[in-house]
Amino acid sequence: MVADPHERHQDECDSVDHPIASIQVLQCGQAEQHREHRYGSKRPQLWWVFFGRDWVPLPLQCFLIDHRDGLVLFDTGIDPAIGLDSRYIKQAIGRFLLPRIFKLKLKENDRIDHVLNTKGVNPGDIRTAVISHLHFDHVGGIEQIPQAELIVSEQEWAILSEPHPERDWTLREHIEVPSANWRPMSFAPTDDPLFDAFDGVFDLAGDGSMILLPTPGHTKGSISMLIRQKGWAPILLVADLTYEGTLLDQDIVAGTGDPETLRASFAKVRNLRERLPGLVIVASHDFAANELVSRATHHSMLV
Ligand SMILES: [Zn+2]
Repeated sequence: MVADPHERHQDECDSVDHPIASIQVLQCGQAEQHREHRYGSKRPQLWWVFFGRDWVPLPLQCFLIDHRDGLVLFDTGIDPAIGLDSRYIKQAIGRFLLPRIFKLKLKENDRIDHVLNTKGVNPGDIRTAVISHLHFDHVGGIEQIPQAELIVSEQEWAILSEPHPERDWTLREHIEVPSANWRPMSFAPTDDPLFDAFDGVFDLAGDGSMILLPTPGHTKGSISMLIRQKGWAPILLVADLTYEGTLLDQDIVAGTGDPETLRASFAKVRNLRERLPGLVIVASHDFAANELVSRATHHSMLV
């Protein structure tokens, strides 16, 4: 059959204007956290870790972006082994603290390769994974995608050179794995006034459709991803900058991270939204993530 030249031309135009076919929110397990952890607290962190009794649900999610250059993950979920294998965390203090901070309700099927398979995606087809930050519930799938380039900010990568990254849940032994193809990147200056508030940008595909931005505070090198495509509302994946997009509007910082840096990043995000009306802010642990992404892309992704 001979392809209709008009149709092919149409396809090429679509590819230029619409480099992204879809964005899916992937469910990578369920957990609970202290209310003070999610919504902040005047009490010190050690108080709620040991005496807090008010647990709230915490969905573990990551994002799959079908870009014309290949499949991109924004974070890789959690390795369920952390809840099933008592040797997963090397340090005794970590094993002692983990159940006091998170109640994990994980199943084998929550690992990223299983999650991708249920979506009909071969883990071997993931070309790039953008790692928002190095916490264990965001890097848990890197061993299942050894072929993928793992993009992380230089600032976040530098945490691994500090004396005890595991004290803030950056578990070196599950990050510096032989199969992982890490690529620490630095942000480049830009003269695009849209990004005036930020210390540089990183244009992932070189077409402006996926722009990485520094949004520190949850960790030193945490990043966000701005997704833009004709016909869609712009989407900012903010990872753990906040646990719910609405908290960012109310300037309510979580009970973890550096409050001052978090507020400074909140202000940068609001500045971006003033310049990009309709910007949809999507946090990784927000129950509203799927609905927000669906609405922004006008697709029904409820499955
Ligand atoms: Zn985190």
